[in-house]
Amino acid sequence: MTEAQIALQNRKNTLVGKSSHKYGLTFFARKNFKKGEVVMLGFGKIIDHQTPHVSVQIACNKHFLPKKWTGKYWNHSCNPNTHVKSRSDEFPNLIASRNIKKGEEINYGYWMTEFMWTQNADELKVRCKCGTKKCKGKIFSFSNLTEQEREKLKNDRFCSKYLYTQP
Ligand SMILES: [Zn+2]
Repeated sequence: MTEAQIALQNRKNTLVGKSSHKYGLTFFARKNFKKGEVVMLGFGKIIDHQTPHVSVQIACNKHFLPKKWTGKYWNHSCNPNTHVKSRSDEFPNLIASRNIKKGEEINYGYWMTEFMWTQNADELKVRCKCGTKKCKGKIFSFSNLTEQEREKLKNDRFCSKYLYTQP
């Protein structure tokens, strides 16, 4: 798929608006989604390092910078309504983890893409604001999860492919 096709699909599926969780802008479901449906597609310029807030990791030393309609406002939740599934080109799709109603904020767990936070990551400094009962207080990367949580994520393959294919 081209970047234009991806952006068009995301615009059909979502709207951008202000998050109720003090996250700034976020994506809202434009329609109802059934569990398992593709909600959004990620795409962007490939870079070799993590950047505060914006970059998304798809392999070791491989991250991308999404634009507005290719994932820029993907926010974190400790109890997210989508999970990550890598496409054949390594870029992630966000898949509905449960039925999602029109108007709901779309979020995923940053631990599904980010192996660990580097020093300049803002995520290390801020508290999580997801507001869910499962909130861990901090925004976790994959490395912050317990071994049990990591194994479950890998077995379910609800994360970037590199996290379950590399030793
Ligand atoms: Zn949280």
